[in-house]
Amino acid sequence: MSKPTVSLVSLGCPKNLVDSEKMLGLLAESGCAIASEAVGADVLVVNTCGFLATSRDEALGILRDAAARKRRGEIRRLVVAGCLVQRDGQRLVEEVPEIDALVGVNNREDIVRAVAPGSRRSARANGNRRPGEPLVFLAEYHPLRSKEWTDRARVRLTPPHYAYVRISEGCDQKCTFCTIPSIRGPMHCKPVERILDECREMIDDGVRELILIGQDTTSYGRDIGYAPGLAGLLRELDRLDGATWIRLMYVYPTEVDEALIDAIAECTRVVKYVDIPLQHINDRVLKAMHRRIDRAGTESLLRRLRDRIRGVSLRTTFIAGFPGETDAEFAELVEFVREQRFDAVGVFPYSLEPETPSGRMRHQLPQKVKQSRVAALMEAQQPIAFEKARAMAGRRFDVVIDAFGRDGVYPGRHAGQAPEIDSVTYVRGGEFDVGQLVRVRGTGSDGYDVLAVPNTTGLSVLQ
Ligand code: SF4
Repeated sequence: MSKPTVSLVSLGCPKNLVDSEKMLGLLAESGCAIASEAVGADVLVVNTCGFLATSRDEALGILRDAAARKRRGEIRRLVVAGCLVQRDGQRLVEEVPEIDALVGVNNREDIVRAVAPGSRRSARANGNRRPGEPLVFLAEYHPLRSKEWTDRARVRLTPPHYAYVRISEGCDQKCTFCTIPSIRGPMHCKPVERILDECREMIDDGVRELILIGQDTTSYGRDIGYAPGLAGLLRELDRLDGATWIRLMYVYPTEVDEALIDAIAECTRVVKYVDIPLQHINDRVLKAMHRRIDRAGTESLLRRLRDRIRGVSLRTTFIAGFPGETDAEFAELVEFVREQRFDAVGVFPYSLEPETPSGRMRHQLPQKVKQSRVAALMEAQQPIAFEKARAMAGRRFDVVIDAFGRDGVYPGRHAGQAPEIDSVTYVRGGEFDVGQLVRVRGTGSDGYDVLAVPNTTGLSVLQ
């Protein structure tokens, strides 16, 4: 029996994207054809995010559309994977009975059986399943099960020149608003050698920018007894020929030590960019969030990062409208954003997740208040971001071209801009390849985005 053609929709964060890429790799290895669009595919896989209520709503919307397609005979099979399955798979099936199989976050390797269940092994795995009931591959996190986990042999969904490198999964922090530890389990890290192997494989495949991700990258190595930690890993990766940019995401404030700051400052391939979600700044709110750091500690950390890492770009995220957040506490946060002048800020309205400690807290704020606070924080940040974009005018810096140009204008990023979440640098005047590193001269800005032209005194390519 020929293998089906499969299309996959990947929702949520870059960690989920890596799972999607790995599942596509497993499906391709098993002989399935991979289709970029759902049209014409036999099987649709939806890799869901289950972090917040809004991600649930998004996934349910897509699943209902897919179910309608299945009822119209446009697809034969609907497979659902990812965090929402891990968090609440049974309810998903009640809401979308057309689902044929569920694959939890610890069961990526079962995706082939979920997609093409012809084999007797799949039937045996779900021996007691009643007709019409979905196949279910749903295991809790188990250290042995993740012992060998690797993200090698992926079908990458990012542009060819950059890729996400997941150095760990799960999380040991206990932020009171977060569902991730209950979905992804405790932190479990990949050994350094396995990460290096994955990176070498991707560099051979044309990747030049390696973006390190995890739920909390800063605690790297703790569960595998790797004493040098994230600083040691950065220094190992910095020796990898062929990598041009190594970018660090998801830094947890209390875990940043001098060794890590020195490694970011000294490693030549590590871009001077730190993504460090702070969530809030008021001491009472930080305590209620169980962030294990206070205002003074946060400000001292930001000073150390800026003093030690020359020209560092700092991205952060905040939650607006946490239970009990008073007007004064929120005003303190707005003032902090004005003072600290971050390079990029993301703001999320607090999401009440019933099974989290903060979900059971009193003084939940109305949605309207949360939304107005999100807007107020972005309004405080916008002039700062615009000013920083304007300040790039006249400066010379490198930009990686991220996509083909339109009307002679190419979208790209300088080292202080991460893909998909930060602003963009548009390069006009020249012809470039995707992935090409171009030395440019800033000419101005367009809101958050930077405008530039090639710096005729020198062109360089991502070697
Ligand atoms: S660090 Fe906090 S917010 Fe981030 S994944 Fe862990 S528990 Fe969730």
